[in-house]
Amino acid sequence: MKIYSTLILGFFFSMNAYSFTLQGNSSNLKGWARGEVTFYVNTSNCPGSVDVVGLVKESLEVWNNTPTSSLKVKYGGSTTSTSSSSPPIVYCETNFNAITGADENSVPGAASVNTTGGQINSGFLVLNASGGQSNIANLSRKNLLIVMTHEIGHVLGLGHSQTANAVMYYTYSFKTELNLAQDDIDGISYLYPSDEFSDNEFAGCGHVQSVPPPTPGQMLLLILCLIMPLAVYFKTKKRFYLTHL
Ligand SMILES: [Zn+2]
Repeated sequence: MKIYSTLILGFFFSMNAYSFTLQGNSSNLKGWARGEVTFYVNTSNCPGSVDVVGLVKESLEVWNNTPTSSLKVKYGGSTTSTSSSSPPIVYCETNFNAITGADENSVPGAASVNTTGGQINSGFLVLNASGGQSNIANLSRKNLLIVMTHEIGHVLGLGHSQTANAVMYYTYSFKTELNLAQDDIDGISYLYPSDEFSDNEFAGCGHVQSVPPPTPGQMLLLILCLIMPLAVYFKTKKRFYLTHL
């Protein structure tokens, strides 16, 4: 029986364990300040056949739709920068191996961030535009979207996940659909938790402001609700005196 108990507990613990990691395996990474990140794109060295801006926009929306996270990402426009920036940039690199140290025949993209006190203060996403086999022009649109979403995840502060269906898994070979796995959601929600009550102790009361003013009918009902108890009170009081006279 003891063996069974240990096995069952071990199973549940393994089911609940997180697989996501943070960039640089840092334990105190806090992500970008305020959880709002705008990406700019430099398409000057990108293959003409690849709609990099469209890929960026579509991939950003994947990260935007996480109810448990306050993260807000958006496309900001074009840039001429090719270095780590704030806000972060996306660009295509013809000397991909020289810049990233990665194999041009197997790695289509890479990303990097710089931090101060755990807070990300600059970053970039570089796409393979070299003569290697993994030049982004050689990838399908579906795989390009997965790669872009994965690299954006790195710029946002996530490392690699050990879960094969996660977009943050080290390879896109096992990913068939463009979506976040629960482990990706756990990771991004850890870095950018939903801010319902965290930033401002009165944040939750903000909902009251969106309630429309009462209609005349509602006002009448409100007045009746105030008058009725008083009427009942005075009537009861009168009866009380009558009874005891
Ligand atoms: Zn990666």
